[in-house]
This record gives sequence, structure tokens and C-alpha cells, in this order.
Amino acid sequence: KLYNELQETKGNIRVFCRCRPPSKEEASAGCATVVDFDFAKDGDLGILTTGAAKKTFRFDRVYTPKDGQVDVFADASPLIVSVLDGYNVCIFAYGQTGTGKTFTMEGTEQNRGVNYRTLEQLFQTAKERKETHLYEISVSVLEVYNEQIRDLLATSPSSKKLEIKQASEGFHNVPGVVEAKVENIREVWNVLQVGSNARAVGSNNVNEHSSRSHCMLCIMVRSKNLIDGECTRSKLWLVDLAGSERLAKTDVQGERLKEAQNINRSLSALGDVISALANKSSHIPYRNSKLTHLLQDSLGGDSKTLMFVQISPLEKDLGETLSSLNFATRVR
Ligand code: ADP
Ligand code: MG
Repeated sequence: KLYNELQETKGNIRVFCRCRPPSKEEASAGCATVVDFDFAKDGDLGILTTGAAKKTFRFDRVYTPKDGQVDVFADASPLIVSVLDGYNVCIFAYGQTGTGKTFTMEGTEQNRGVNYRTLEQLFQTAKERKETHLYEISVSVLEVYNEQIRDLLATSPSSKKLEIKQASEGFHNVPGVVEAKVENIREVWNVLQVGSNARAVGSNNVNEHSSRSHCMLCIMVRSKNLIDGECTRSKLWLVDLAGSERLAKTDVQGERLKEAQNINRSLSALGDVISALANKSSHIPYRNSKLTHLLQDSLGGDSKTLMFVQISPLEKDLGETLSSLNFATRVR
């Protein structure tokens, strides 16, 4: 409902800000915090910058550390339902490593995130519409690392480089990528597990690796209206972006430097695309990164975009927090 209400007055891009709670260790160490949620309900977020000067940022929604996965999904779910009506949708989480991107998107087994709840919602709504619609849902899981696409559902590593092609209907796809057809939420859980396990392969530190790559879940929905026979196809992207933090130039060399440059490049490309869309610019620079090129069908046109900007409440993270909030403000 929230999304649709907002929809009437604005374009197709929404930004929700979510702040993680301090961890137990941080809380017991008495780490200073700088975020003020007094006006969170109205979408205002106050950031207490040094010298107690307060800077305010405005979002479509602000989640405090008290808001749980259910609260967050409640606001995203109308968007998910619109996929079954034929809309393309893109939801992504942006922010510094450790701010809860993976928590929001993947969640944990006890605290499932947007990805799982999305599929649950798709199956639920499809079931409610079974008298009038036939839906077919399939899932691909990709990773983009150093501007290279990896298929996390592939059973054997492909020697061929995965490339983005534009199909005749104008749809973009990656030929050769596994599309796992899913019939129920149990199957989804298995597919998500396969994808998540594959991320670990070939890296000696999974957390580090995942903070430097974009994890992209693509849900394809094919539908047939049983009454008028109309068929539609839509695509939903759920993206856990690489960490947005800037590494000090002196700290990075060799492979790390290349990684950092690629992340930087793709996140700026994403910012450029979204702000070009928000400004109704005539040229949208999708081709500047694999990330934006992959998301092309679900960014712009009549597709709907939701960005979670994830932040830390701590004073020590203030610099990165301000830079994430500025990125998010730029796209609104
Ligand atoms: P990121 O993916 O941005 O690097 P994570 O999702 O891994 O960050 O989150 C870092 C830690 O903080 C994890 O232990 C996660 O469970 C916890 N966390 C993040 N957001 C929340 C939240 N809203 N509520 C409770 N714990 C959270
Ligand atoms: Mg993560």
C-alpha cells in the first residue's frame, strides 16, 4: 500500500533507509552513536554530525534498529505483487560492509529476508489467483565479481565467458545461465542454498569475497491469463551489492586494487543510471558496467525500483554513513 500511495505522486524509484542495531560487543563497549530516529515515521532521518550539528535526510521510509524483517517486507510486498501483474522490478541493498545488506536481502534461517519472503509472496499470490492465472516461476543466481558474471547454479564451471545478450523481444539475458524452475517455497530454499554455497567455492574468505562482489537473484515470471489468454513475462532482480566503502589508496595494491576499482566503477554506474532515470535524462548509461547492463530491463521504463540504503548507527562509521546517504539522496 505504501509503495502504491507513493507511486501516485512520484516516479518509479523509492529509497528506504535501514539502520542496523549496534552489536552486543559495540553496545557493551559503549560505542557512541550518531543517528536520531525521532522523525523516522515521516521518512526523516537525523544524523548528528560532529559538533552536534544535525543534518537531516529524507527517504520514503526509515527503519530503525527496532524494525524487523516483517516490517521491512510489509512495505516491499506491493512491489512484489506487481511482478505478477507484469511489471519488472529491481530491489537492491546498498551500503558499507557490515551494515546489514545481506541481513535485509538474505536474512538468516530464523529471520528470513526479502529474497525468501518475496518468493513466498509470489507463490501465495499465484495460488490466490489460480482460477484466473497460470504462473511459471524460475530463478537464476548470479555473481558479478571484477566485471565478470558467474552462474552460481551451474553444476560445472563453464569455460565460456558469460555475456549479456539482447533477445529479439528486447529482453536482456545471459545465454547459458541456469534457470531453475521452482514450484514451491521448499524448492526455492534449496536453490538459494546451492547459490549461497557456490559463492564460497574458490575463495578462502567467504565474507570478504561476498563483500566485494554483487550477488544477484533473478526471478522470471511467465504468466498466462486464463480468461483472455494474454501472456506476459516479467523479471524481478534482488541484489545484494558489494560493500560501498572506500579503501584507503595506501592500503590497496594488486588484486585488491583491481577489485576496489571494479566495485567503485559499478556502484558509480548504478548511481549514474538511477539519477539519469530520476532526472528523466534522454540517455541512460546502462552499458557502463555489467551490473547496470544486467539490470537494464528492470531499471527505467515502467519498471519499479527500490533501494535499501543500509547504514551503521556508530560514530566511527559516520564518514561512510554520510557517503551512503548522499549516494541515496542523489538518486531520489
Ligand atoms: P553486510 O551484508 O552489509 O556486510 P550483514 O548483513 O552481514 O552486513 O550484517 C552484519 C551483521 O549485523 C550480521 O551479523 C547481521 O546479522 C547483523 N545485522 C545487520 N542488520 C541487522 C538488523 N537490522 N537486526 C539485527 N541484526 C542485524
Ligand atoms: Mg553481505
